[in-house]
Amino acid sequence: MGSTVSDAIRVTHLDQVIDGRDVPGERLIEVRNPGRRDEIVGTVVDGTVDQVDDAVAAAVGASAAWAATAVAERIALLARVGDEIDAHAEELATLVARENGSVRAIIRRELIGAANAFREVGEGLADKLAPQDHPSDAPGQFVRIQKVPYGVVACIVPWNAPLILTANKIAPALAAGNSIVLKPSPFAPLGVTTIGRIAASILPPGVVNVVNGGGEVGSTLTGHRDVRKVSFTGGGETARHIMRQAADSLKGVHFELGGNDPAIVLDDADLQVSVERIVESAFRRAGQVCFAVKRIYVPRTHAEEFRRLLVERVNGITVGDALDERSSMGPVNNEGQLTKIRDLLESTIAQGRDVRVLGSKVNPETWENGYFVLPALVLDAQADDEIVREEQFGPILPVIAYDNEEEAIAMANDTEYGLCSSVWSRSTDRALVVASRIEAGMTIINNHLFSHTGVRQIPFGGWKQSGIGWEGSPHGIDEYLQFHSVDVQSFPETDG
Ligand code: NAD
Repeated sequence: MGSTVSDAIRVTHLDQVIDGRDVPGERLIEVRNPGRRDEIVGTVVDGTVDQVDDAVAAAVGASAAWAATAVAERIALLARVGDEIDAHAEELATLVARENGSVRAIIRRELIGAANAFREVGEGLADKLAPQDHPSDAPGQFVRIQKVPYGVVACIVPWNAPLILTANKIAPALAAGNSIVLKPSPFAPLGVTTIGRIAASILPPGVVNVVNGGGEVGSTLTGHRDVRKVSFTGGGETARHIMRQAADSLKGVHFELGGNDPAIVLDDADLQVSVERIVESAFRRAGQVCFAVKRIYVPRTHAEEFRRLLVERVNGITVGDALDERSSMGPVNNEGQLTKIRDLLESTIAQGRDVRVLGSKVNPETWENGYFVLPALVLDAQADDEIVREEQFGPILPVIAYDNEEEAIAMANDTEYGLCSSVWSRSTDRALVVASRIEAGMTIINNHLFSHTGVRQIPFGGWKQSGIGWEGSPHGIDEYLQFHSVDVQSFPETDG
């Protein structure tokens, strides 16, 4: 085992933080290890409606001074948050692997991204926030356009990649000069609460507040009239609820939602490399990633070879405890996920599809104690199958054969989702033509994970029901800024 005894026995309790103070609560949420359900990883407070009110009031109280703080100072403080995350990276990697279920190597990479998000958010920001003056011919007249924060932003995050999703949301919201109330998911609140607490300890009191809890706390927060904007990452159903809640006070929403990403493999693709990279994307975090390959389209002429390579590669996946270095894939995060994935698998088998359950168990003796699922492939999926139409958000991957590119593009676009996508071809020109016809916020060519430049430059977001607005890149900060324009005119000169 790669784990140590101290990894397994340590129980973490974290209070909420409101106005710079620890806020305990009477009720606690118990966080269990999805790979060892009898192990309590830690507890957080199950927050109350009153505590949400307190958190919003603290954020309101802190917002004017934070907005007036020089950009350079805000950026310097946020960079310190990134450094502090780095300083605790190993401890956090173990904690989050235990509460989330993804293998520790993945969480380590996530932590690097999270720390960088705080350090890099300031790049070019001073120029971007500088007021722009537009002169006129008339004496004494000019127009000044300023970009200013909203005030209080509610930041609500899910459990699946909790640290990076939190960092990508709160770093720009804060850099822009907003104060925030952060609500982690009760399925993985410990790492996110820790990041919130780190930020709260470095920034002035009230600028960062963390409340814990589930739907009721979230709903109170998103409906609060003093919250000026909601930035939410999660599922479509919750987003619809939030939009209805936000309607009463007409607040803005920024949504990063689910995806059903197609991978379109063209007939000149390097099949071996494509399979390797598609599997890397689709089974990372046991498939619980919003922008993962969720359906593959392959030319019928190459389908047999592609399926053979895919089966061979997926069969090499080792499923086990997140802290065991032998595991390449951990458990799914919670019981709801397990049930949903098992039901989907069973109904696809009952439909008569060629389903292959592959991979191996690292810890067969403790298998039933965790939410473990072996990776599966559906080798002869059809366009209208549930496994193709729904976001599976788990380790089952359908392969659909196509006869021509037109058909592949049409099938890829026949969905209410539009997050990410990929095209696989030795010809960049050919791939770019296909990419330009995909209805999605993002397309990656010959991979389904972003390059280093992609991570820094690409506005992350989805079309259709995959989202509203953009995160990351130099553009993401715009979600947290509004205009304040001043049209300066003067009195006519009057004599004596
Ligand atoms: P979820 O919508 O169930 O929960 C997300 C957050 O919303 C949690 O903090 C939850 O407590 C809170 N919440 C629940 N009910 C609420 C309510 N009524 N009002 C306000 N907040 C409420 O989603 P999940 O199961 O945690 O995450 C999985 C989903 O998130 C998947 O669909 C996945 O694709 C999507 N996701 C999208 C992205 C992206 O960037 N596009 C990233 C990760 C996950």
